[in-house]
Amino acid sequence: SVSINLRNTKKPEENGECMQLKWEDKAAQSLLNKLIRNNLVNTTNQVEVLQKDPNSPLYSVKSFEELRLKPQLLQGVYGMGFNRPSKIQETALPMMLAEPPQNLIAQSQSGTGKTAAFVLAMLSHVDPNNKYPQCLCVSPTYELALQTGKVIEQMGKHYPEVQLVYAIRGNKLQRGMKLQEQIVIGTPGTMLDWCGKFKFIDPKKVKVFVLDEADVMIATQGHQDQSIRIQRMLPKNCQMLLFSATFEESVWNFAQRIVPDPNIIKLKREEETLDTIKQYYVLCNCKEEKFQALCNIYGAITIAQAMIFCHTRKTAGWLAGELSREGHQVALLSGEMQVEQRAAVIERFRDGKEKVLVTTNVCARGIDVEQVSVVINFDLPVDKDGNPDNETYLHRIGRTGRFGKRGLAINMVDSKMSMNILNRIQEHFNKKIEKLDTDDLDEIE
Ligand code: ADP
Repeated sequence: SVSINLRNTKKPEENGECMQLKWEDKAAQSLLNKLIRNNLVNTTNQVEVLQKDPNSPLYSVKSFEELRLKPQLLQGVYGMGFNRPSKIQETALPMMLAEPPQNLIAQSQSGTGKTAAFVLAMLSHVDPNNKYPQCLCVSPTYELALQTGKVIEQMGKHYPEVQLVYAIRGNKLQRGMKLQEQIVIGTPGTMLDWCGKFKFIDPKKVKVFVLDEADVMIATQGHQDQSIRIQRMLPKNCQMLLFSATFEESVWNFAQRIVPDPNIIKLKREEETLDTIKQYYVLCNCKEEKFQALCNIYGAITIAQAMIFCHTRKTAGWLAGELSREGHQVALLSGEMQVEQRAAVIERFRDGKEKVLVTTNVCARGIDVEQVSVVINFDLPVDKDGNPDNETYLHRIGRTGRFGKRGLAINMVDSKMSMNILNRIQEHFNKKIEKLDTDDLDEIE
């Protein structure tokens, strides 16, 4: 396998200078998705392509053979169980592997094959006979860099001449040394120091520069500036590649500063709808009554697997305790858990080891557990100002067309305020949420 050169990689201090919670949340979310994802997100949406030169032909491949990869790499790709390129890879790969190299900005949701695509591009472009860095890849955090490193290791399994090194805080090198590894992956600050201050890397010899998770990256000013400073040291003909899961204005502005004359690929998210969901609400007076209503529902209908959302950690913890006292196998997902612990909980739930997952609103954002047929909002989703969080509501209970299975959503209402939130959600989606009488549950099935 690719020999990984991990010199003294201590986990960097987490309480860094300008880390904001929001940024940490984004990075953690992204890592969580990587840890629990074991296959591609399918999509029926078409990719949108904007070519730098609209007159040049647009190539798209349906197989990995068409790419004329080095046999060692093709073996690596098949070894990972990939049969054919993913939707985004169909167009991104020929663009990235073209001669002369083309720059690319690509956006698609997590799990659609971006990492595998740029890893393949990096491995294809290195010359293993040259013992100096030729590909640089920057990621927002140490942990995310390690995840990408693992993919390089897997895909390059049959290409042991290519070596990899991590440019991350804590990885201290001797002054004056020159790196021999062809691929360097790391965080922007250390990468910048290694190119500039310490000169471990000669940036003028770099052929490919990858900026991953641009949306997470720009959430700190520091990372954005450092990335731009690295980019400026690179030769003009260096291939620049930038990837992002989302594309707000700010990400787009940053992308254009990093990647000159880009081709652009965008893959829309599959739309979620409430059409195949039966939505109900239950009227209660307090959380104990909500719990009682929940028990009644469990007594009346067969629920294979349910996710229950609470507003606070305290409520989630309390509810999980009450439910397990009732004999349910409960998993609890909570904000104070390490990302790896959270991933383990979600995996167990996905494997059906637990039937109920109780979680806080923040914790489960962006996590897809497709087989769940019942979603219970023990507390309704609200934003920090107490307004209905329609987007979260939709993402939580909505289904994409592909998983057109019928679902059931039950909302617990316990005050005038929450009734008002419910009404506003109902108006927003223009979909009736029916009242459910938990003492008489015949209508529900
Ligand atoms: P992203 O970077 O967009 O989040 P990844 O490259 O990490 O997506 O891919 C998501 C998952 O799909 C990973 O488990 C990866 O191994 C797998 N995968 C990627 N490309 C393919 C492919 N062409 N065929 C099958 N699985 C793939």
